Amino acid sequence: MGEHVHIRHRDGMEVSPAGELVETYHCPCGSMWTKVYPLEGREPYTVKGTAAP
Ligand SMILES: [Zn+2]
Repeated sequence: MGEHVHIRHRDGMEVSPAGELVETYHCPCGSMWTKVYPLEGREPYTVKGTAAP
């Protein structure tokens, strides 16, 4: 089997209690990601989530 190439479908976005814009993504394989847009002009970063059971 080759390495699985994730396809990120955007689920939506919300604003965290800290006021950051947060986008969530998922792949059909069950993997999830969260992309956070911090305040104060810092670079956005992505957090790899765990696969849903
Ligand atoms: Zn995947």
